[in-house]
Amino acid sequence: MMLGTARAEAGTIPRGHVDLGHYPDGPITSAVMIAAGRADGPTLWVQAGVHGPEVVGQLAIARFLRGLDLARLRGRIACLMVANPLGFRGYNRLTPQDGMNLNRVFPGKPDGSITEQLAHRVFELAMATGDVVLDLHSGGDLTITPFYVIYHKGSGEASARAAELSRCLGSRLQWGSDEDWMNGSAITNFARRGKPALIVESGGGARVRDEDLANMQTALTGMCQAMQMLPGTPPTANDVRYGGNAVHLKCTRGGFWHPLVEPGDDVVLGQPLGRMVDIWGDVVETTTCSYERAWIGSIKRPYMPIYNGDQIIELVEAVDG
Ligand SMILES: [Zn+2]
Repeated sequence: MMLGTARAEAGTIPRGHVDLGHYPDGPITSAVMIAAGRADGPTLWVQAGVHGPEVVGQLAIARFLRGLDLARLRGRIACLMVANPLGFRGYNRLTPQDGMNLNRVFPGKPDGSITEQLAHRVFELAMATGDVVLDLHSGGDLTITPFYVIYHKGSGEASARAAELSRCLGSRLQWGSDEDWMNGSAITNFARRGKPALIVESGGGARVRDEDLANMQTALTGMCQAMQMLPGTPPTANDVRYGGNAVHLKCTRGGFWHPLVEPGDDVVLGQPLGRMVDIWGDVVETTTCSYERAWIGSIKRPYMPIYNGDQIIELVEAVDG
């Protein structure tokens, strides 16, 4: 198996680069690594850097592969380190050249804008390589998420398998969604083509904590164990919360954002979730929980200066598993 310039050879972790597009003066590439076990087995596709400022994924992959005992690995772990090199180099969640969000335009278009062509290329590579897809994200610079896993529900067998795998990644927040935005996500499009696919998120707020790296490590190990690529029993989480669809709460006033909750917190109808405080220090808006029972899927970074209309909270409806 080849991925760009990296050729999988049993018992090694080759590094290389794969072409994803064209700068005016040469190829747009991403670093790739393939961990190849001594025994044959399935291929796990792991991608990071779909959103430029979310760097937990790359750091966690490199750390995970470095600690891997290849003698115990069955199959291959193929890692695309920077799915959107334009966003990554521009420290931008969006592609600077066309302002598009890569995770809203899958499966992409071979003759579309640069982000659509990038989505098409990444999608074709992953479809040709992986049996299961793991897409690593975080809150990046502006937002903070808890350690959660999300998959698309409603894509038949692939969704059912993704739901099973979501129980094996060590995250207590397990979320199956079919919200509109997911139509253009990588995971939904893989699921619609029959491949189980999950996003794992942890952290953000413009920094990476050891805890976030440990969470990703747990998820990567658990995924390999659930796919029987590594020995051992996948981790199970305590105090599990299941998620349905979410609402993205936006403010109607600008100011400085003061969250009253932490990512992952349980909340109930009417509970204050955060306050907007204007330049004079006056509270000008209080945002409350609109579901009977919910948990916090993300918050905007505390004290961030905010425009009216910005998303400040992602509120995930709590559902029974
Ligand atoms: Zn992301």
